[in-house]
Amino acid sequence: MLLFAVAVALVLAIHLAVRHWFELPALYAQEHANDVAAVQAVRRLLDAEQIRMRELLVDNGHWDDAREFVLTEKHSARYREFVEIEFSYKETMHGVMKIDGYEYLDRQAASVFSSRFDTQTLTPLPDPGLPTPELIASLVETPGLLRTGFMRHNGRILFVGATGITGDGAKQKPVGFLLLWRVADDEFFAEVLRSAPVRFKPVGGADTLLQEIRSQPDGVTTRNRDGVIHWAVHDIQGNPLLVAHQSTSPRAFFDGLVAPSTLFATAGLTLLLLLIAALVSRWVVNPVLGLAQFAHDVAARADFSRRAATDRSNEIGQLTTSINEMLQLVETKDAELRERNKALTLLSERDALTGAGNRRAFEQIIERDWLHAQRSGTFLSCLMVDIDYFKNFNDSYGHPEGDEALKKVAGALQATLRRAVDALFRYGGEEFVVLLVETDLDGAMRIAQELLRAVAALQIPHNDSLCSGQLTISVGVASRTPRTTELASDLVREADQALYLAKKQGRNQVVSAAPTLVRDSVTG
Ligand code: GH3
Ligand code: MG
Ligand code: MG
Repeated sequence: MLLFAVAVALVLAIHLAVRHWFELPALYAQEHANDVAAVQAVRRLLDAEQIRMRELLVDNGHWDDAREFVLTEKHSARYREFVEIEFSYKETMHGVMKIDGYEYLDRQAASVFSSRFDTQTLTPLPDPGLPTPELIASLVETPGLLRTGFMRHNGRILFVGATGITGDGAKQKPVGFLLLWRVADDEFFAEVLRSAPVRFKPVGGADTLLQEIRSQPDGVTTRNRDGVIHWAVHDIQGNPLLVAHQSTSPRAFFDGLVAPSTLFATAGLTLLLLLIAALVSRWVVNPVLGLAQFAHDVAARADFSRRAATDRSNEIGQLTTSINEMLQLVETKDAELRERNKALTLLSERDALTGAGNRRAFEQIIERDWLHAQRSGTFLSCLMVDIDYFKNFNDSYGHPEGDEALKKVAGALQATLRRAVDALFRYGGEEFVVLLVETDLDGAMRIAQELLRAVAALQIPHNDSLCSGQLTISVGVASRTPRTTELASDLVREADQALYLAKKQGRNQVVSAAPTLVRDSVTG
């Protein structure tokens, strides 16, 4: 997730740098170039108007004649007609040229004749003349030159044209000059610039706009927030006269530092990365974590019968199948091991010849039963069983026969014990011991006599027995409710002493360790 955040931040940072240092400057430069081109188009319209004026002025012969005419006929009716034709709407190659007034000057630039007239009515207006000392001075210095341009006069902006008048026969030096002029008002600019979105403001005082215009190599300011650029119109002397406010087409690009396209791209990338993370999590991380948890659970509970579920056929599915196969193997081996352990435990607790519990098992179980009797305050009885004159039996019938007899005796003893908790052990050689829980001395004596009878019932011949013609046993019985100071071995010793007595008193009998010795015998 951290990696993911860093990637998104990096993409944004790279974008900001590229946008700040390369993209936006290039876009602004491109836009400025377009704006300059738009200004040039407007300037060309103004230039075209000057060309039309020059075209009008260039016919020197005509203006010479006109001068003669106005000087002689200025008060006649013909003059009015002449003015109408020659000055007010003079035809040029590029259409009608409208004139607001004119002035003839002599060689010394003194006014000879001037006229202003209302362009609507063509009525001559009162005549203050056109005092243009600078212009006239420059014209005089460069006689014969055509001059056109804007100039300020009496608070108004005029569009003027000037030409030298050569007069009859005077080819070299002009006899005077002609000025044509028109008021450069809103109507003028509307006409000249047609529908170009430009407004003009006279230049005044410390114009900061003018400073800005001058600071630009191409004389056009960069556009402001409203999409307006400024440039200057100069007078005929080359001094700034008007500041043009030109509206441009709306900004064609997004000027924020973070472009919407980048935002979309970053959002898209973010979503894509999230999707990839989700897919990797769904298809790889979660299944692997699930398998790890499963393996942990199996190990913690040692339950090898469990199988991991999978519905995938990809690598995760293969891994799951392999884990399941491994578990199958472990389960089988585990079961085998348990079986073997069970068998080994059995072997370690059983006597191989007779199948009775062995001495080791006896030691453990008597401790357990002793504690149980101690806690519950019940009787525990111990019966020591010994085959009579068995050495003689072996001697007479052989050891293998002895073994067979041992097995039969054990079987008979075991068959006599009906309760599952009653247990028979081979104590050693031809000696057995029986433990009877929750059985008092009377009960134990009864069982002991049953044991005696059961062995007699086997009717195993024993010719060398000194107490019977058949194989017999002697039993010593001890029974106690154990006190905490006593040990299980005390009970065993007591039973053993009783057995000793039974032997001593002639064998084939049961003797209890109680004060009153019970004597019994079975004859067979
Ligand atoms: P008692 O009546 O005093 O018990 O006389 P006994 O001969 O039975 O006693 P003793 O202790 O003198 O002899 C026990 C004999 O039991 C000795 C041995 O030959 C025999 N015996 C012990 N274990 C086995 C066995 O596993 N197989 C066989 N065949 N004989 C055994
Ligand atoms: Mg013995
Ligand atoms: Mg014996």
